[in-house]
Amino acid sequence: MRPLFYAMLLSGCAVLPPDYQWHRTSMLPATSYEWTVVKRDDLYKVCGINPPAMPALGACAFNLQQPRRCYVYSHLTEEQAKREFSGDGESLWDHEMKHCAGWAHQDRSKP
Ligand SMILES: [Zn+2]
Repeated sequence: MRPLFYAMLLSGCAVLPPDYQWHRTSMLPATSYEWTVVKRDDLYKVCGINPPAMPALGACAFNLQQPRRCYVYSHLTEEQAKREFSGDGESLWDHEMKHCAGWAHQDRSKP
């Protein structure tokens, strides 16, 4: 495994997931973030997720620990993401910010 793996948390996030369970990780909250808009087709590559695994992929977040900076990739702009809901009562934007703050989730609909 590459050392970077230990200093980073990657989260792929679906728009309208069936069920999310949040949990706190040992990752420190990012002190800044960067939101990058990418084409929908490119999003899967950037996030390293196979389309069948998450058909409704809306964004992914890389929470880097050194330096402490969070990188969010989405096919939506920040303004659009604030109006898009990620299925747990929060906007997709708030959802990604939660990742940047050191939280992660599991999809409870999957084993
Ligand atoms: Zn997420």
